[in-house]
Amino acid sequence: MSEAAGGPSAHDVVVVGGGVTGAGLARDLALRGVSVLLLDKGDWGAGTSGASSWMIHGGPRYLEFDWDTTRLSCEDAGHIVRIARHMVHRCVFLLPVLRDHPLGIERLETAMEVYDRFQPLKGSHAHLALTMEEWGVDPHRLTWANVLDAVRAGARAQNHSRVESLLRDGGSVIGVRYRAPDGRRVEARARLVVNAAGPWAPEVAAMAGARVRLRPAKGIHVVYDRRLSAFAISAEAVDGRDLLLVPHGGVTFLGTTDDDHYGDLDSLDVLPDEVDYLLQAAERVFPSIRQHRPVRATAGVRPTLFQWRPNEDDLSRRFQLLDHERLDGVPGLLTIAGGKLSMYRLMAEVTADAVCERLGVQATCQTAQRPLPGASGVPLPVRELAGEHGITALAAARLLERHGSEAPEVLQDPRRGRLVCRCEALTEAELAHAARHEQVRTLADAFRRVGLAAGPCAGGVCLERAAEVIGHELGWSPGQRRDACREHVTAAWRARAPVLDRWGWAQEELAYGLRRGWPGGL
Ligand SMILES: Cc1cc2nc3c(=O)[nH]c(=O)nc-3n(C[C@H](O)[C@H](O)[C@H](O)COP(=O)(O)OP(=O)(O)OC[C@H]3O[C@@H](n4cnc5c(N)ncnc54)[C@H](O)[C@@H]3O)c2cc1C
Repeated sequence: MSEAAGGPSAHDVVVVGGGVTGAGLARDLALRGVSVLLLDKGDWGAGTSGASSWMIHGGPRYLEFDWDTTRLSCEDAGHIVRIARHMVHRCVFLLPVLRDHPLGIERLETAMEVYDRFQPLKGSHAHLALTMEEWGVDPHRLTWANVLDAVRAGARAQNHSRVESLLRDGGSVIGVRYRAPDGRRVEARARLVVNAAGPWAPEVAAMAGARVRLRPAKGIHVVYDRRLSAFAISAEAVDGRDLLLVPHGGVTFLGTTDDDHYGDLDSLDVLPDEVDYLLQAAERVFPSIRQHRPVRATAGVRPTLFQWRPNEDDLSRRFQLLDHERLDGVPGLLTIAGGKLSMYRLMAEVTADAVCERLGVQATCQTAQRPLPGASGVPLPVRELAGEHGITALAAARLLERHGSEAPEVLQDPRRGRLVCRCEALTEAELAHAARHEQVRTLADAFRRVGLAAGPCAGGVCLERAAEVIGHELGWSPGQRRDACREHVTAAWRARAPVLDRWGWAQEELAYGLRRGWPGGL
């Protein structure tokens, strides 16, 4: 079926993939006046972007083998931090040096002095003895902010819309055929299709017989139910790799692994060995780590460019724009591959420049200066927002991190004083706003957009109420609300099972018993 009754819709560009790269690209193009359709088969940022370590960093490690990546990351991180300032926070790392540390204090300090040259590019301070600074960000929210700005600039953006094939005219790609959220098969024509599908880029390119070579590398994190430390802490793994223990909001991430991945990208398992590898390293610098309670694990696959030989960890994090007309004789298709979250804006700019050149569009890039939604104007201080709207300081702080100067608009709802969940301090007003204005179609979408069930209760306390609030906005029947809860509980359980110890299993039993008491029993 075509998009419009009269025939397939026409856009200048269809972007396939709404991770941070595709979202950034849609924004860049829309701001240049190009008509864009952005599609993601799942939700915004639900692929690799959301499974990252949530850092906008330069990567001092890359200085050893990939100086340019550190420089480019730091430069672009500087832009991202400025355009997304309500979303980012300074993250101070402690760098413990144990007796058998490969560098020792003096050489580590010297490495940090070299990194200090790059720190001003991203607005970070120079290091102090055995501490250094990076930026933290919620990549789900960063991705959404890009989607939202793209839409405000005239783009169309649709999540839960899988591109199933590319439309061809002879050898040329002239659009996509996708499955819409309501199940319809829809065709969308475009002058150019850009493949920004991250680790899935080879799969999308193959739809047109084109080739993208990646060396995908899987990484997992264990997520703890609280801030285990006010500082991030670096740790050395048994094979000498750098690991991180990073507090973010009300939780702590421990990660990450980096292993060649040959399996299915759509069903990533977290293995007990991977969890043990992380814990073994973490307990050398944080001895009580095994006594703390993990609430979930995350897994993602890096879309690293193909290279033969280097260990996964030493692979370059550079990016490449592939023109499939030149490489494979397939006009109408470009792929942007590789890179990092910390340089997504630059990747988008380079791609948008190439697209505009092909389309004959003269407009220049605005994304390095133009603030993302919520980052312009002065946001109210936490206390003032909390006092004015009768919400807790924690709820106000969370709201400001997600919406910045637009937070008061979200609270124009009588449900602003009602919390869906105490542990994540999410108000019903914000959840309803997300369902109405932020393309939340499932409970998992609400986790990504506004942190539903992201706290210590992991949904045990808040899911049922959340399904009512979202269901009310989206017109779900009682059966649909129950199904939504069941689906979320099952998925959350899968993400938690690999990190449960015996007390964790006991708590699961308890939670299961409680849920059986829910109406309709889960
Ligand atoms: C464990 C780990 C930790 C990391 N930590 C950091 C970090 O701290 N800082 C940093 O800078 N970088 C980090 N990275 C790298 C960074 O996360 C990635 O480089 C970046 O997020 C990739 O974004 P992307 O948009 O290119 O890919 P993705 O986020 O994967 O987006 C691709 C999107 O394409 C969609 N898609 C695929 N196929 C289709 C289709 N057929 N139709 C429609 N949509 C489709 C997917 O659903 C997905 O949402 C990390 C990576 C990993 C794995």
